[in-house]
Amino acid sequence: MFSYRHAFHAGNHADVLKHTVLIATLQHLTEKDAALTVLDTHAGAGLYRLDGDYANTSAESADGIARLVAPGAPALKPALQAYVDMVRAFNQGAATRVYPGSPFIIQRLLRDHDKLKLFELHPTDLRALAGNVAQLEAGRQVAVLHEDGFEGIKKFLPPPARRALVLCDPSYEMKNDYGKVLDMAADSLKRFATGTYAFWYPIIPRPEAHDLPRRLKTLATKAGKSWLHATLTVKSSKMTETASGDTKRPGLPASGMFLINPPFTLKAALKDALPQMAELLAQDRNATHTLESGG
Ligand code: SAM
Repeated sequence: MFSYRHAFHAGNHADVLKHTVLIATLQHLTEKDAALTVLDTHAGAGLYRLDGDYANTSAESADGIARLVAPGAPALKPALQAYVDMVRAFNQGAATRVYPGSPFIIQRLLRDHDKLKLFELHPTDLRALAGNVAQLEAGRQVAVLHEDGFEGIKKFLPPPARRALVLCDPSYEMKNDYGKVLDMAADSLKRFATGTYAFWYPIIPRPEAHDLPRRLKTLATKAGKSWLHATLTVKSSKMTETASGDTKRPGLPASGMFLINPPFTLKAALKDALPQMAELLAQDRNATHTLESGG
């Protein structure tokens, strides 16, 4: 079974990018009245405690969400402010103790007639997710499925009202996740060509990670679909030397979001917010961002 637990990473710079993009995308998709189906292929536990044992082990949120809510943080660009407002909505008072994962962010933005399907394979995260979702009392709006999300979404595409957002956020713990993302993207476009698809991926020195956005771009272009690719780098990916002379991996230095059929409003929102994200989350002089689109 997998060892990846999102609780160690909740609220880090990758979550800031992913969840800011998710919120901006959903805000646009819920403007139209017709029902929306959201498929979250890798849901995680849904809610995380930032003051709990897991988050403290690496305290990654200190260099993520915590920097954006810190006293003295500058006025935020609208997309980043919407993200901070979302996280604050799960916390009373000034402290940020609870961090909402994608299932809770999505559910909060849905209307009564929209549907959310959550896929989670890890038994511990599944139990936590099911318990957290039960407290929402959302009834049949939210379904928790103990299934492989790559495969499980097939039965929901195309959705009844022909409007869907698919968020695909694997841990990439296993090398074949990269290939599965591509297979799922190709298969989903065949099933439902007009859906909005959002893929998160880590930017790490590994050929599969490097190739993924390039291959998604080729896929979207060949299918005649529009795409958007945003990346956020917070530090160098080079190994560093510790005081004792050992070499140390830097931790995740960067990540990207690749969207097929993105909302037309997303590019402008990110053009405005990404530079500020890179500036506020910078851990060294290598911090930067990119934003490109096509189709
Ligand atoms: N999307 C979540 C969020 O933004 O809050 C975080 C998800 S985390 C990066 C990835 C999750 O996928 C882990 O909880 C892991 O147990 C789960 N997982 C791994 N492989 C899976 C699969 N094939 N299908 C469904 N869930 C899977």
